Amino acid sequence: MKAEEEIRNIFGQLKNLLLAEQEMGSEPPFIPSEVRSYLEGSVSAAHVHNHELAHPDSLEALRAFIGECTRCRLHKGRKHLVFGEGSSQARLAFVGEGPGREEDTAGRPFVGEAGRLLTRIIKAMGLTREEVYICNVVKCRPPGNRDPETDEIETCIPFLKQQLTIIRPEVVCTLGRVAGQGLLGANFRITLERGNWHSHENIPLMPTYHPAYLLRNPAAKRHVWEDVQKIMTFLGLEVKKND
Ligand code: SF4
Repeated sequence: MKAEEEIRNIFGQLKNLLLAEQEMGSEPPFIPSEVRSYLEGSVSAAHVHNHELAHPDSLEALRAFIGECTRCRLHKGRKHLVFGEGSSQARLAFVGEGPGREEDTAGRPFVGEAGRLLTRIIKAMGLTREEVYICNVVKCRPPGNRDPETDEIETCIPFLKQQLTIIRPEVVCTLGRVAGQGLLGANFRITLERGNWHSHENIPLMPTYHPAYLLRNPAAKRHVWEDVQKIMTFLGLEVKKND
């Protein structure tokens, strides 16, 4: 039996219990208000689903829904859940892997050394951080900056997908292997497939290297600039020659 069916059964039994109590004229048992409103039929099924709002209509509503999330083990070591930041009307969304130490401390994405490099890339495109949207595949820092594990990604990625559904950017730019695999599937190979257009939910998607990789391999900056120029051309941004 699916978990959601089990939950419905439990709620159904609770409802019967409540009705029986009322019929016998007994004092109703204490029931939390959220459970009570569900029994009264005013709470949508989305509230008992673990991961997805039925119709997320704003980033604020999604953030509230995620709450102080404990849905995967990454919550245990985090200081802050890093939801993402930028414009809800962004034409371009960057998707990274997950928060590092500085992001975990600040509660903001891409604020460490790699983040400063991403900020320079965004500026070189003629944009600001406030004009784009920046987020990650997982919202809590993996311990020791290890890669997020498959089950952690599977648990968290519905939230990223909902962010992209809400923002509906004209282009998504994934940064690094993990983000590429998260949105394009496990077969995605960064070295072979970066720089080529893909799509996520009919949104054009350009995969490129993660800025942290560029810090270790400065020679790869040239490739990222080529990829970024493709995005600029797509968005009709002026491509400068000397950056
Ligand atoms: Fe929840 Fe995502 Fe953090 Fe896991 S990584 S605890 S799913 S917000």
